[in-house]
This record gives sequence, structure tokens and C-alpha cells, in this order.
Amino acid sequence: MLEHILTNDEVFVAPDWLKAQANLQDLEAEHARSIADPDGFWGAWAMRYAWFKPWEKVMEWDYPDHRWFVGGETNITLNALDRHADGANRNKVALIWIAEDGGERKLTYYELRRLVSQLASGLRNLGVEKGDRVVIYMPLTIEGVLSMLACARLGAVHSVVYAGMGVGALRDRIIDAGAKIVIAGDIGMRRGKGVDLRSIVDQAIEDLPLRHVVWFQRNVKAELGPRDIDFDELMAQSKPDVDPVPVDAEHPLYILYTSGSTGKPKGVVHVHGGYMIGTGYHLRHFYDVKDSDVFWATSDIGWVVGHSYIVYAPLVEGVTSVFREGAPDWPHPGVFWECVEKYGVNVMFTAPTAVRMFMKYGAGHVEKYDLSTLRLIAVAGEPLNPEAMRWAHKHLLGDGKRGFVADNWWQTELGGPAIATPIVKSAKPGAAGLPLPGVEAEVVDTDGNAVPKGKGGLLALKRPFPHMMRTIWGAHSRYEQYWSEIPGCYAAGDVASWDEEGYISVLGRSDDVLNVAGHRIGTADIESAMITHPAVAESAVIGVPDPIKGEAIKAFVVLRIAVEPSEEIRQSIIEHVRRELGPIATPSQVAFTEKLPKTRSGKIVRRLLKAQELGKDPGDLSTLED
Ligand code: AMP
Repeated sequence: MLEHILTNDEVFVAPDWLKAQANLQDLEAEHARSIADPDGFWGAWAMRYAWFKPWEKVMEWDYPDHRWFVGGETNITLNALDRHADGANRNKVALIWIAEDGGERKLTYYELRRLVSQLASGLRNLGVEKGDRVVIYMPLTIEGVLSMLACARLGAVHSVVYAGMGVGALRDRIIDAGAKIVIAGDIGMRRGKGVDLRSIVDQAIEDLPLRHVVWFQRNVKAELGPRDIDFDELMAQSKPDVDPVPVDAEHPLYILYTSGSTGKPKGVVHVHGGYMIGTGYHLRHFYDVKDSDVFWATSDIGWVVGHSYIVYAPLVEGVTSVFREGAPDWPHPGVFWECVEKYGVNVMFTAPTAVRMFMKYGAGHVEKYDLSTLRLIAVAGEPLNPEAMRWAHKHLLGDGKRGFVADNWWQTELGGPAIATPIVKSAKPGAAGLPLPGVEAEVVDTDGNAVPKGKGGLLALKRPFPHMMRTIWGAHSRYEQYWSEIPGCYAAGDVASWDEEGYISVLGRSDDVLNVAGHRIGTADIESAMITHPAVAESAVIGVPDPIKGEAIKAFVVLRIAVEPSEEIRQSIIEHVRRELGPIATPSQVAFTEKLPKTRSGKIVRRLLKAQELGKDPGDLSTLED
């Protein structure tokens, strides 16, 4: 795979008509301007948005802390809702929600503002104030998006937990965020069936001192406890009378938890001001969205892509954002393309794992539909393998005549794309692309020195940009770690290489973090969940190659003395992890072993397990205990 990436000299080029109309015409010039004069560059873009109070200074950079639009006051919903609802976009469709069974709901900017204001009013009556944290555990629905925007409008900090995470994961996040209010759904829809979310929430919050739980009950109105509130009733009792609360540009907008190399999730914090400016900029310049476009990010509000590119950037920029609940291959494998035709989607943001899945089903499911509106498919989340890229060009974009596939690399911490292949540049299969405006990225050695072109090393960023995280919630030292591992750089935690033209290929993580179907999962998260199973003494988790998911989870387990290995124990361990962390973290294989390979200092050497699993050379074994 590595050799394949490095020696491949095939390129894909966007058709001339598409290049000619691209919003970003000259990457080099735009990039140079952003680096030479970041204040002028970002300051100019920020002028298009509405502010309660203008900023005094574009940026303050006190390594490793950075602040943007210092002294300015705004509210992201002033820009995502009011700027449009009170202007020319009043009757424009803001959101199109597609149900798994094909049902739909559309809201104009005016209608959306009204509903958000109404929910914000209801939350305010429940005591939610500026700075309070609200955890949202909702299926991918209009109500999920309303919940996010209503919090933002009040200046409250939302923390969306993907409604596929398990009991332990949800509970840890509520506690870490110090949330007193949870907004939760009772069921999610997947493959035509209701997925029970209520029992996960009930178990997660059982003994937590929450003030209220707002329940979005989709079909059955259950009997509610004393601290519970019904979402629909809350809406019915509230008037749409909440204006956006002015907040400092640096006021936290949300916390989004992601995995690191320890078992405790990291609460990445993004803010109102810089986040809106940077994600909005890239919606236009990288995702190339025009005012009349229909934009579809196939992610979920539980992930950063959903925050930035289902909700905030499209709304801030006043375009139409489509989102769809449910499985990408249900009720049939062509459903995505049916939706592209039906809604006239122009730009789609999806994941390599989805492309590989469509590839597996075959082009027949695509060819039935008219995809002539679709001109750009942006993919992110994990490396896009060359085969999938070729297939997408050929079958989704008419041999590359109708459009372009653009890889883009970013992370929860970065809020928006950082390394990518804009339309005007050639795409190299296996490479994510070039640093986007505002981004100074290099491939470096452990001292922070750039490695020669053609070589590999660690992926590092040399400076912050406005939409990059400000801190890790309640643990600023964990934020500082990102900027201290490699001298003078932000360490992305990825291994990468670059070629003579500066194209960067991201090869994988440098830490013990897996990427399963584009989702980042720490081996430590899974191992700490495993250890709470009564039969498990110790465990080590590795990623093994998977044709669709990229990586699948394999766990090695040492059982407690007197516990005999059995199929029953194996299933019970798998079920336990699933319950604690959710289906995405479920190991696909569990192997019992007597011992785990360790260093003399007692650290588990996962790389040895992995080498053994893949039949590769394990490398230097001199530090091993046994
Ligand atoms: P997350 O924070 O969950 O979005 O995960 C970010 C991680 O996913 C990165 O650190 C990379 O390891 C991986 N990743 C994201 N986008 C890409 C891409 N376009 N190519 C290769 N790896 C990617």
C-alpha cells in the first residue's frame, strides 16, 4: 500500500469548464497571501459576517494559545439564521432532511430561525444560560440540528454525542462536560428499524445529578419522570422570542469529544467567531459551493464534519444543506444516487468507506440515476485508496467529465479542511493534496525539521488558523501537548510523506488510535472498556485491514485466572464493549492469549501484535520483556 502510494504517478484533472468556474482560482497566490498577511486575509473574509461589536485585532498568538477577532462580539446563529431570515434568503430552503424511508422535511431560513428561537426560549425557561453545557444525544433529525442551534443562540455550549455511542461513552462525556441538561432522542432509524436510544440514555444518566432531560419522542410518548420534559411540549409552550445572545468571538460554541491515546476522551473546544469565519471560507473556496447549490454532507451531527458541514458553514453561508438519517445502502444500494437526482445535489461530502461500499455493490446501482447536477465529491476521514478514487471518477462523475473528486484531510481539532486538492489542482491518487490557505503544513522529523521531499515523517502544522480548536475542555495541558511533542509545531498525530511538488500523503496514525470507517477510536478506549468485563484480566487492541471499513478492530484478551476461554465468554466481551462504547467500537475479532508482549517498563507493544497478525517483520525487539 505504502509503495503503491509513493510510486503512483497517475493524476486526475478536473474538466476545464469546472476549473473555469471554481471559486478558488489560484491556490498558490491565495495561500501566499494568507501566510504573508494572516490578519489582512482573515480580517477581510470576516467582514462579510454580522458582528454585534467589531474586533480590535484579528489575531493574538501566544504559543501555543491563539485568539482570533479579539474584542469582537457576535453569535454564530446571528450569521447562520438572522442574517438570512431578515434578508434576501428569507424564503430560501436552509435544510432538507431526508428520512430513511424517503420521507422529507424542508425548512426555509425564516422557518428555521423561528423554530430555533422557540426551542431556545424553552431551554431558557429550563434555566439554560450562556456558558452552560448541554449534551445532545439525538438521531440525525431536524430536531437534532435545532438543539445545537438553540444552544448556540443562548451562548450555551453544546456537546453532541453521536447517537451510536454506548452507555459508558455517553456517561463519561456528560460528566466531563459538567452538563446539567441533556437533550435526547428515544429512537434512531437504521435499516427500517427503530434503534433504542432511550435505554442507553437511561442507563448512562441513572445516578447523575441532571436538572432536566428533554426527550424527543418520535412515536410513543412514554411516561416521563419528574426531571423529564417532552421536546414537543417544550416547543408548544414556548414563543419564538429569543434573539441571538451576543458573545465574545472566543466564546465556546461546542465541545466535541474525540479519542486520544489515553482512555479518557478529549473534549475539543471550538468557538463562535473564528470557527464561523474559517469553516465558511472553506465551504466557498475548497468545497466550491455557490449560492444556488444544494450541498450534501453525508456525515452525522455526532461528528465534526456534521458540525461544520451539515450545520454551521452551510447555514452561515446561506446555502441549502441536505442531510439524511439512516444507512447508506438501505432501502437499496442506490439510495444515495436516487437522492442526488431527486434533490439536484451539486456538491457532496462523503467518506472513503462509503465510496468503497458503493464500489462493492457495483456501478449498476449508480447508472440508473441522473447525476448530472453533481460536480464535486469531497472525501475525508481516512486515506482514499487509488482504486476507490478511480471508481468514483469513472462511475459517479462520468469518467471525470462531469466533475471532480477532491480528497481533504482534517481532524476534529481543526474544525475544517487543512490539506486538500482544490478543483484547480491535479489530484494524485493516494495523496490528500496541498496545504489550503491559512495552513502551513510540513512533514517533519521529531525535532520539527522538514524532511526532504520524497520522504516520510510526522505531519505537523506550523501555525494556527481561526477555526482550529482553542483548548481541551477542562484539560488545557492536554491541548498544550499537541504543541509540545514536536518543537514549534502542532503535532497532528499522523504519519505522512510529501512529494517533489509538496503533495502530502497521509499514511495513518502515529499513535495508538484506529480509524474504523473514518471514525477515530483509541485503542485505549476499547481496552479500558474491556477491562471492566469481569472475565478480562488484560487486553490489547490493534487495527487489522478491512476492505470496506479501512480498519477493523481485533482484540487480544488475557482472561482472569480460573476463567476458561469459550465462545460464550467471547460473545459476552464483544457485547460488553458494544454496550459501553457503541457499535462502531465493537471488536470484529477477539483472540484469547496467555500473555501480551510488553516492554520492560510494562507497556503493551501493539506493533508486535500487529506485525504478527499481518505476517510482517516486527522490527527491533530489544526493549521487550519477553
Ligand atoms: P477525526 O478527528 O475523527 O476526524 O479523525 C482525524 C484523523 O482521520 C486524522 O488524524 C487522520 O488520521 C484521518 N484522516 C482524516 N482525513 C483524512 C484524509 N483525507 N486522508 C487520510 N487520513 C485522513
